[in-house]
Amino acid sequence: MSANRELKSLTRQHIRLVWDAAQSDAPLSDEDARLVQVMREHPEYTHLWGRLDKVSDEELEQTGTNPIVHIIIHQTIENQIAGGEPREVRRVVKMLMRQGLSRHEAIHQVGSVLVGEIYHILKDNRPFDELGYVRQIRQLAR
Ligand SMILES: [Zn+2]
Repeated sequence: MSANRELKSLTRQHIRLVWDAAQSDAPLSDEDARLVQVMREHPEYTHLWGRLDKVSDEELEQTGTNPIVHIIIHQTIENQIAGGEPREVRRVVKMLMRQGLSRHEAIHQVGSVLVGEIYHILKDNRPFDELGYVRQIRQLAR
């Protein structure tokens, strides 16, 4: 199995385990609890989580959005907000909400920047550019 396939499979297994644990009210780490919260904020994907081991990539990407990537991006931003690292994420989300966006919509805006950043990390094989990320998300709230 290639590293990429292995990572995908591990991610699916993790999401499935966390989801199952949440259904039986098992205690979760803060990060996993955030993941469950994000999953609950996307009821349109609920039918997928319990059978992630059987869902094909084609079915996952049917709507043009990969639900796994989508919730992982959400979770990453929630972790950034909870940890205050970088601090601007929380501030920009608040500013966007003051401009009329829902919290979910504000997270999507930040998420679009994060996706672009991840794209460059993978394509150019470079580390996370925190300053560049902060600069770009600040632009969102102008
Ligand atoms: Zn979303």
